[in-house]
Amino acid sequence: MTEFNKAPSPHIKGWQHSSPGMTAAIGGTPLIRLKRASEETGCDIYAKAEFMNPGGSVKDRAALAIIKHAFKTGALKPGGTIVEGTAGNTGIGITLVAQAMGCKAIIVVPETQSREKLDFLRMIGADLRLVPAKPYRDPGNYVHVSQRLAEEIGGCWANQFDNTANREGHRTTTALEIWEQTNGKIDAFTCSCGTGGTLAGTSTGLREQAALAGKAAPKIILADPEGSGLYGWVKSNDLSVSGGSITEGIGQSRITANLDGFIPDDAERIPDEEALKQVFALTSEEGLSVGGSSGINVASAIRTARKLGPGHTIVTILCDSGSRYQSKLFNPEFLRSKNLPVPFWLA
Ligand code: PMP
Repeated sequence: MTEFNKAPSPHIKGWQHSSPGMTAAIGGTPLIRLKRASEETGCDIYAKAEFMNPGGSVKDRAALAIIKHAFKTGALKPGGTIVEGTAGNTGIGITLVAQAMGCKAIIVVPETQSREKLDFLRMIGADLRLVPAKPYRDPGNYVHVSQRLAEEIGGCWANQFDNTANREGHRTTTALEIWEQTNGKIDAFTCSCGTGGTLAGTSTGLREQAALAGKAAPKIILADPEGSGLYGWVKSNDLSVSGGSITEGIGQSRITANLDGFIPDDAERIPDEEALKQVFALTSEEGLSVGGSSGINVASAIRTARKLGPGHTIVTILCDSGSRYQSKLFNPEFLRSKNLPVPFWLA
């Protein structure tokens, strides 16, 4: 296998609603061998470089899959408006894909999300609506606000959490790319979860490919931050939540429709300090600038490699870029205020 092998982008085939344009650049991301993590564990640890998508994150795939599906069902038409509640990355993907397809987007984001993501949304002309951060059970939660707004204006609600077009997008693209890029040699896949689209879709696709090839299915491991209920759900069927994390876009306290019917084989709970150690090492030792959820994923891949033992192949996801979190993960003042380590070059 070669590093930076450009994978096919099968999702574009048969696309009828516009010429490929920008959407043709979504997916087909390189699978990068992480040298230090691989050397440390005696395994081959690979990471899918999703930060290389046009909108800069793994969520471009969900945005494209959701918008394609909405066109197919007639829920969205050229000139129409799509509305979404998001931690930021989906909003960026939805706005860019909508603009490329001749639609408008309204994006509802909790005001606690990183300044960089909000600035980026403003920069690309998103119709941005900031709301106070509220738990899901509160009607003021950004997801519910976005649903009500879509209904009020007669727009299309993307509903990334419970719209299974999201996981379908990963089952039919991310999984197939990873299968091809590893030549079907993959012992484990580990990934964090926000909507569950990436984890459930990619894992289901990998299990299907393994079955078709008559091979054992890769072990699927949920990588979860503190403050998320999913680790407890996998380990003891208990979704209750404690603690918290500075990572954005991941962690979940309910079984979304994208997770429904999907069961990981195991789970790792990764504290912020361990995730940040990986974020900083990826930057200074591998030349890869990534965000916090990528750190959670790589930490989980390393733990998985240690459990499986040398000689195994483990794949994970680099969800977005470090530039999205300059004011937080790379800000010594912020890090010190949270009692977290500061990278040596910023100390
Ligand atoms: N990492 C980041 C940075 C994200 O923004 C998201 C999505 N909110 C995820 C990971 C999780 O992806 P998914 O929604 O597919 O579970």
